[in-house]
Amino acid sequence: MTCTTCPYCGVGCGVIATVGKAGEPSRLHIQGDPEHPANYGRLCVKGSALADTLGLEGRCLQPLLRDGEGRTLAASWDQALDRVATGMRRIIDQHGPEAVAFYVSGQLLTEDYYVVNKLVKGWLGTANIDTNSRLCMSSAVAGHKRAFGEDLVGGNYRDLEEADLVVLVGSNTAWCHPIVYQRLMQSRRERPEKRIVVVDPRRTATCEQADLHLSVKAGSDVWLFNGLLTYLEEHGVVDTEFVAKHTGGAAEALAAARASAGRLEVVAKACGVPVAMLQTFYAMFASTRKVVTVFSQGVNQSSSGTDKVNSIINCHLLTGRLGEPGMGPFSITGQPNAMGGREVGGLANTLAAHLELNDAQHRQLVQDFWQSPVIAREPGLKAVDLFEAAHDGRIKALWVMATNPVVSLPDADRVREALGRCELLVVSDLFADTDTAAAAQVVLPALGWGEKDGTVTNSERCLSRQKAFLPPPGAAKPDWWAVCEVARRLGFEGFDYQSPHQIFDEHARLSAWRNDQHGVQRAFHIGGLAGLDTDAYDRLRPCQWPVLRRGDSTARLFHDRRFFHADARARLVPTPPRAPANAPDDEFPLVLNTGRIRDQWHTMTRTGRASRLANHLPEPFVEMHPYEAMLCGVQDGTLVRVASRWGAMVARLRCTADQPRRTLFVPIHWNDLNASDARVGALVNPVVDPLSGEPEFKHTPALVSPF
Ligand code: SF4
Repeated sequence: MTCTTCPYCGVGCGVIATVGKAGEPSRLHIQGDPEHPANYGRLCVKGSALADTLGLEGRCLQPLLRDGEGRTLAASWDQALDRVATGMRRIIDQHGPEAVAFYVSGQLLTEDYYVVNKLVKGWLGTANIDTNSRLCMSSAVAGHKRAFGEDLVGGNYRDLEEADLVVLVGSNTAWCHPIVYQRLMQSRRERPEKRIVVVDPRRTATCEQADLHLSVKAGSDVWLFNGLLTYLEEHGVVDTEFVAKHTGGAAEALAAARASAGRLEVVAKACGVPVAMLQTFYAMFASTRKVVTVFSQGVNQSSSGTDKVNSIINCHLLTGRLGEPGMGPFSITGQPNAMGGREVGGLANTLAAHLELNDAQHRQLVQDFWQSPVIAREPGLKAVDLFEAAHDGRIKALWVMATNPVVSLPDADRVREALGRCELLVVSDLFADTDTAAAAQVVLPALGWGEKDGTVTNSERCLSRQKAFLPPPGAAKPDWWAVCEVARRLGFEGFDYQSPHQIFDEHARLSAWRNDQHGVQRAFHIGGLAGLDTDAYDRLRPCQWPVLRRGDSTARLFHDRRFFHADARARLVPTPPRAPANAPDDEFPLVLNTGRIRDQWHTMTRTGRASRLANHLPEPFVEMHPYEAMLCGVQDGTLVRVASRWGAMVARLRCTADQPRRTLFVPIHWNDLNASDARVGALVNPVVDPLSGEPEFKHTPALVSPF
């Protein structure tokens, strides 16, 4: 019996895996961990089906090298690692370290993430490493830093249960974070007076139990929350003492809000909702102290995602509603270890231990701790820019780990072209048959869930162990091991780890080292977990950071009214609203929105192997209002072509009045290996938020026509 953590969404549920005897009909039994604070024994349909996804069919079980004629040949680890190291060395010698890049993933364990960041930023001396977490939550990171001085989610899942009002913004929680939704619904059954508001252009499964659904116009969130900020001030719902003592920027933020959203009628028009409905929402928020505002990709994936995040946080800061049970803004992350990646500096603009690349003292701190020969001096290329640099030849060597950018990035056909132009493309993955691995010169077989060992951090800062309970299949190895082997071949010292435990210990020690350098202690501090012996690391139970001493767990930040800017105050940030980057026009008159479905995960490389998950929604589809379908001359249930200026795909049309007029919804999961012309990423406009670099997945002008 092994206590581990689910590898899918950012809820981070605890799982107990029991491996039966060989020959038993069902060798692996999966159940929820009743003692894990994320789920208390519950699992959603994806978590429950984990055993169905673990077969070795299609697994990459040994390193593969592509020869000059495009054939892949089995190789030894030595041959593959030599080719990676030799290729990188040649490119660095000829073009400098900035010609090398890494694209990693929120699927990595924290230990893998830590080591690859150390290699890139501390030894190669570039910051050209970014992560697919850029695509789901980097706007939340940028918004948190502006508001709190550090990337911090202050609250926890229990706050959603204790709140009297929960506002779910841009989040189909029922499908994308099902256990959080189940907990929310259970708390509502126990306290029927609790209210739930959903802000989402689409009518999703999450709306079914909501007291109010604001079907706002895509991209109008800043108007909505600027209007709320103005309303709160006008109705005297301001915590003046909190604002005066613990914040800055309120006057400026209020002035910007009034300028854009000073009148309800203006906001109602911008958001496309009736004035009365807006008034109901604002009055509900104003009259309820215990309010949690949950936000997710519907907010983050926007060319103004960071401003959307701050417009939400502003409302909580003006009313002092954070840091106590049942209140606060709450960013819910997409991936199982997006938070762990943030902790070790997985983004191109950050350093390990929540330190900043553009801060000279932070760079010195990390370089001193690592004793590294160099340290990256400038933020590296963020995901969309990184692949554009590969396309135009600035990036010549790229190592992709545990992610499938040919399916998941915007303008994905161009990403495929970019990979084809790399002189050296290395892919570490469980499978060699992904759209991305198809372009690789070197494929390294990685360990998957149940085989690898390390830690993850979920959306409520809860750090949990993910443990191996199956033997490594074939020649597959942990990602941290492959990185260390390449580092050694490049002649670098400092990568002689023998286990993830040693890496975790270094990560924990770094978080505590000179942590009060400017007299401001950083919140990310897990020094209490340094010095664990192997047994204690193996037995580590879930805990929420900061962990200053062994046994600590911090349920909530900001209860002491201390924030992490140099003056210990939070900031309200002016957020003048901006329309999405590309507006629909006569040629592409519809707005394409992308998202997840209930039973699939990312690009289906794992969940696509479980038939019971495929039964829910078995093929790529596009949802559209029936009236819109009539105008486009397409029939419900038929195959249609969906196109934008960037690309096209084919999908089954599902007509539903839940989809607002003049909009489309397409799930992100399908790829060209399990359906033809099914990658919605090929259509998505490659525009990003200027601060966070997060792409605008929720708003691409598009067109539907008969196939
Ligand atoms: Fe896994 Fe998320 Fe489902 Fe929990 S809610 S079982 S973490 S997919």
